[in-house]
Amino acid sequence: MKLLYKNVFNKIKKFYHLKILKKRYYRLGSCNCCGACCENIYVRHNGSVIKTEEEFYKIKKEDNYPFYQFINVVKKDDFGLVFECTKFDKEKRLCKDHKNRPSICRNYPSEEIFSFGAQLQDNCGFSFTPIQSFEEVFKKISKKPVKNFEKLN
Ligand code: SF4
Ligand code: SF4
Repeated sequence: MKLLYKNVFNKIKKFYHLKILKKRYYRLGSCNCCGACCENIYVRHNGSVIKTEEEFYKIKKEDNYPFYQFINVVKKDDFGLVFECTKFDKEKRLCKDHKNRPSICRNYPSEEIFSFGAQLQDNCGFSFTPIQSFEEVFKKISKKPVKNFEKLN
């Protein structure tokens, strides 16, 4: 009986994450407070990673989201601007205002980080696992009818 409940629960959980939340991964684990995500930060604004200082200062001026006021540019690499957060205590490796940290920090890590090519930090206590297995996705794709394509030139 216990197993039956577990299976039903897993099915509801899967449906909720896939269809309601529109997620592709389950987030597992918990934060071990390593502080790695408070250093060398990339920031995505309106769907793209901030790449230039001009862009960042314009956003900072126009958008009053508190996080933009906390961060400073440290360097730039091929991916975009790299920031540091002034609320991060480097010695203790803790947030100085953890209780009031902004939503971007509260929600970290979200699976969206994969969509722009970023990865979890090596020490991160979280991990992501696909909601649908490769076999399930493959089964679904192979059931779809093959479309006829026409060459137009
Ligand atoms: S506000 Fe706090 S949790 Fe967010 S990046 Fe800065 S130090 Fe880290
Ligand atoms: S990198 Fe992961 S484990 Fe470390 S502080 Fe950030 S969320 Fe927590």
